[in-house]
Amino acid sequence: MTASAQPAALVTGRRGCRLTKKPAIRQLSWGAAKGTHCFACGQPLRQGAVYCGWVRGRSGVHRLDAEVWACP
Ligand SMILES: [Zn+2]
Repeated sequence: MTASAQPAALVTGRRGCRLTKKPAIRQLSWGAAKGTHCFACGQPLRQGAVYCGWVRGRSGVHRLDAEVWACP
C-alpha cells in the first residue's frame, strides 16, 4: 500500500470524519485498521474518538474485519 492509495482525506483536523463513508477494508491504513488512527483523515486518535463500526472484508479464508474510529 502506498501513500497515493490513501483516500483524499489527509487533511488535518477536518470536520465530518465520522460522517465519511467507510472505505473498503483494503483501503484502510494500518493505523485505521488497528483503531489507532482516524479512518477518514489518517490522523492519530486521542480522547473522544468516535466509534464508527466495522469495515468488513476477507482475503481467501482470512477475515480482515476491522473496527474503525474517527476524529471527534
Ligand atoms: Zn479524522
